[in-house]
Amino acid sequence: MRVVVTGGAGFLGSHLCDRLLARGDEVVCIDNFATGARSNIAHLSEHRGFRLVEQDVSNHVDVDGAVDAVLHFASPASPVDYLEMPIQTLKVGSLGTHNSLGLAKAKQAAFLLASTSEVYGDPLVHPQAESYWGNVNPVGPRGVYDEAKRFAEAITMAYFQYHDLDTRIVRIFNTYGPRMRPNDGRVVSNFIVAALSGEPVTVYGDGSQTRSFCYVDDQVRGILALLKSDEHAPVNIGSPEEFTVSELAQIVVEVTGSSSPLQYRPLPVDDPRRRRPDTNRAREILGWEPVVTLREGVKRTAEYFQSEIVGRS
Ligand code: UDP
Repeated sequence: MRVVVTGGAGFLGSHLCDRLLARGDEVVCIDNFATGARSNIAHLSEHRGFRLVEQDVSNHVDVDGAVDAVLHFASPASPVDYLEMPIQTLKVGSLGTHNSLGLAKAKQAAFLLASTSEVYGDPLVHPQAESYWGNVNPVGPRGVYDEAKRFAEAITMAYFQYHDLDTRIVRIFNTYGPRMRPNDGRVVSNFIVAALSGEPVTVYGDGSQTRSFCYVDDQVRGILALLKSDEHAPVNIGSPEEFTVSELAQIVVEVTGSSSPLQYRPLPVDDPRRRRPDTNRAREILGWEPVVTLREGVKRTAEYFQSEIVGRS
């Protein structure tokens, strides 16, 4: 297959490029490096099957030759990033998705949208099944991401229904692992980098809010299983194991052997109280289940940050 990955230099996008190349596909990576990093794809620059196109997919998407699949992963994805880049976030979720769909349609390629658990907002139903419509504040600070992704899902379904495009929608829950940026702002990277540097581990609120953390290898395997399937309705991919943020802090401190203290900070506005995917559909349709435990994943991610970041300073 020849696969276009928008956001291919990002955290998830670059892992997808790796997996696709490893199985023998050709990859066209499109990125404007708004939040992606050249270092994430530096090891691919000499690969025969890899091509980088530097482009903002909110403006246009331009790829020569045949394309079998377009995977749309371009977007800021950390709350810190989309608060700093609200307009770009809205544009890449809306115009960027439209352009990427247009490319898929022109090439008669399959299309996979990277959607998000944020479409459920601060959920009133727990765990979150794909049938739940969500509880999103459109004018709150997270609305720029949540509503852009909700629009992205709607336009993807419209292309499926009206243009017969071969589409998929994956709702990605909190995912972590190597190649997150040390200053990404998300909780796993923040905690590990703080623990390794001996800085305070910053728990927002009282730490009783929950998330379910999926290791990147499991996530990528789920995404590729969905691409291979013929399922057009949204599918949650994420860990069904739920932890409080305080429990995560404890695990990170233990696994890294850190003596960092915990420091409590105010809870961000509209921070979801609880989040855990109902993964029944992923299990039944894709035969997918995550296998990497949180402790093991934190260990692997800490090794990455240790060698890449702390080791260099
Ligand atoms: N969080 C935290 N300390 C940090 C960063 C995040 O306690 O240094 C909390 C945040 O308030 C949220 C959870 O961790 O409750 C997950 O935040 P993240 O930004 O990783 O992703 P979200 O799931 O909120 O999109």
